[in-house]
Amino acid sequence: MIKSIINKAFTNAVLSKDEIMHLLNDNTNNDYLFQKAHQKKTELLGNKVHLRALIEISNICMQNCLYCGLRRDNKLVERYKMNKDEILYLANAAADYGYKTIVLQGGENNTFKIAELCEIIREIKAKDIAITLSIGEKTYDEYKLLKEAGADRYLLRIETTDSMLYEQMDPGMSHKNRKRCLQDLKSLGYEAGSGSLVGLPGQTLESIADDILFFKEIDADMLGVGPFIAHQDTPLKDSPDGNLTLALKVMAIIRLLLSDINIPATTAMEALHPEGRYLALTSGANVLMPNFTDELHRKLYEIYPGKSQVAENNSLNRAKINENLIRYGLQVSNSKGFRLGRK
Ligand code: SF4
Repeated sequence: MIKSIINKAFTNAVLSKDEIMHLLNDNTNNDYLFQKAHQKKTELLGNKVHLRALIEISNICMQNCLYCGLRRDNKLVERYKMNKDEILYLANAAADYGYKTIVLQGGENNTFKIAELCEIIREIKAKDIAITLSIGEKTYDEYKLLKEAGADRYLLRIETTDSMLYEQMDPGMSHKNRKRCLQDLKSLGYEAGSGSLVGLPGQTLESIADDILFFKEIDADMLGVGPFIAHQDTPLKDSPDGNLTLALKVMAIIRLLLSDINIPATTAMEALHPEGRYLALTSGANVLMPNFTDELHRKLYEIYPGKSQVAENNSLNRAKINENLIRYGLQVSNSKGFRLGRK
């Protein structure tokens, strides 16, 4: 029964909500699910892994998400905002290492003016590098200006499609506005990325199944799935961590239903298991995001505990990464890694 659901997803890229829930509930065929997701990825995208150099440009955030160490009420964090020269220095270093995509990520804030970000984007683009932004909710016009400056992709996780849970976990934020942002990004021609947190307190398997169907409905170009990890300086500090296997299963089902998209092996997976990201890369993921943030800033960008340690163990050297990948039958890609058929 479970195998036939997995085979159906593999062949038709379609599942009902009931079928997804069966897969999430059952743990007898997880290896088969991971194997089929890996097979699907390999058949369509080969054994190449796209590398994206991550630069964490600011840890200032005006939002107050209960699960995040950067939430504005966490007064224990020393806040920073990189200046343009610091960002360009790291971006140039990444380009010199051969990276073809740079991800500029930061808390949601207005300390960066849009004009300032556009200038940074234009300078990086002059090096023929693809740019992904992950800087939160903006207006349509702001997204448009950033796109016109050269940004190619935008990551904005929905976190959960359960709007009540979302508004409980992200006080003051509107689920409707989050969806509006994703629609705007799609309509402006970005490669739009979303994703979810698995294991949030109060989250049900039914709502996780809804998340997966939502990703299929919006035809997201990239999807990142991370297990919830309790941060000691947040209101959720006593909540149990999410489950890595469940997060991997969600990711594998997404690969079967959205076969050609880009799926990162998230750092949160490695925070729960020393080989977490490599398990992900053999269960449907095809992207790695090595952290290029300098050591001082990286330590201050702790969305969840253990994140900076994973980053620290993360060699920036592509040859070294390639060596690690080869052990799993994988290889570093030399392309910018757009969604198949998009560019
Ligand atoms: S999850 Fe993002 S928006 Fe929410 S507090 Fe953390 S950095 Fe800010």
